[in-house]
Amino acid sequence: MLTTKFQIRLAAFCLLLFLAAILLGWAAQSAWQRVRLLNDELSREQLESYRTADQFLLDLQHLQGLLLRFELRGDSNDWARFDAGQNNLDLWLTQQRNRLYTGAERSALQSIERAYDDYQIAATRLAQQIAAGRSIRELAADVERTSAEFERLGRLDGDLVQAHQRAREELIDRSRHELTFIRAVLYGALTALLGTGLGLAGFIWSGLISPLQRQLLESRELIARQDRLASLGILAAGVAHEIRNPLTAIKARLFTQRKHLGPGTAAHDDAEVIGSEIDRLESIVKGFLQFARPAEPEFAVVPVLPLLQSLESLLRDSLDAQHQIRLEIEPGESLSVRADANQLKQVLLNLVQNAADAIGARGRIGLRYRWDLQRLRGQQLPVVVIEILDTGSGIPADIRPRLFDPFFTTKATGTGLGLSIAARIIENHGGAIHYQTEPGRGTTFGVVLPEAAPTPAD
Ligand code: ADP
Ligand code: MG
Repeated sequence: MLTTKFQIRLAAFCLLLFLAAILLGWAAQSAWQRVRLLNDELSREQLESYRTADQFLLDLQHLQGLLLRFELRGDSNDWARFDAGQNNLDLWLTQQRNRLYTGAERSALQSIERAYDDYQIAATRLAQQIAAGRSIRELAADVERTSAEFERLGRLDGDLVQAHQRAREELIDRSRHELTFIRAVLYGALTALLGTGLGLAGFIWSGLISPLQRQLLESRELIARQDRLASLGILAAGVAHEIRNPLTAIKARLFTQRKHLGPGTAAHDDAEVIGSEIDRLESIVKGFLQFARPAEPEFAVVPVLPLLQSLESLLRDSLDAQHQIRLEIEPGESLSVRADANQLKQVLLNLVQNAADAIGARGRIGLRYRWDLQRLRGQQLPVVVIEILDTGSGIPADIRPRLFDPFFTTKATGTGLGLSIAARIIENHGGAIHYQTEPGRGTTFGVVLPEAAPTPAD
């Protein structure tokens, strides 16, 4: 039972670990992707692309300056430099098309390119007029047109500046968004990692260390108990021997005394009481000896149903007549245990007796058995569980820890040895006794014994 629980927890934990690994993998991958995206966006090229408008305006102003000088001085060198400059700027503008990132920037650039063509046409016309030696007045219309185109270009460049501004703001927003995402992913991953670590620690503790600790404690207690029992056995044999001999002598004397006492006299009644008390003493000594030094079980294959039937026929009538307690067997499939039949019978007798005591009067004791797979002494074994159910008073929580202690009893005339002897015998059989109880409703004692392979006769 413990192992299946452990296995379920192990499986659940592995699943959790697997999920955490997937989560971590996903977090790492998406964080990496976002970082790369950010890296791309914040590249030198992109940052430089925001300066396209400024650069263009500078170059345009330079060209306009050259044109003005040519206008004033008519020096053909100035025109040659203007011509080279305007072609370079034309080429540069074409190259900028692929360097801009947003649609708004690209369409602003397109407008600039178109206006620049117009500016070039106007400037070339003006240069031709100057070269033809036209007077200032005759040039006025062309000068006007060129500067109008120049101003238009200035306005369009302003549009590009604005488009740059918007693109930059969008980039900052996006970067902030990516950073928030990366931070969330990192926190999430850290939390998952921490959770997994804590889970692992808890799992190792509860699944491995704590049971080991418990087992160690249990085996230590068992060893201490065995030690105590061994020395108790030696002591008990001596004491029992010492007590039994005088008891036998007293009993013999009492027997002869009683012969001289007439029945019905006070002295005869006293002798009766003394006799029954001596019997009680003898049974205590016998029980104690049995507890301290139980006989080695003589193992045989014991079919369970016939054993329960013999118990039933032994007790049924007296229980029914004296206490109105029904003793009922709930028959099941044919099962056998490996046990000493007499010792097992004694255990079951004790348990039935306790059940009857707990009921007092009017009730039911059930005897039933079933096959199961249970852990006995560290091994998963096929077992038979024999159960004694009663409708008695149940066992109060405060006395449960002492239930199996020798001499622990809640009854006026109890010896407190029944359960301790039963537990010892079953322990010697490699089995176990457990119980379930509900105060006011009843108790079920279960005797778990290794199953014996059925005999050929079965
Ligand atoms: P005794 O029967 O002599 O008292 P046991 O060792 O057989 O000694 O039982 C110890 C105590 O356990 C009983 O005194 C009783 O209080 C309690 N006990 C045992 N079996 C039952 C039961 N079936 N229902 C309620 N109490 C029980
Ligand atoms: Mg008892």
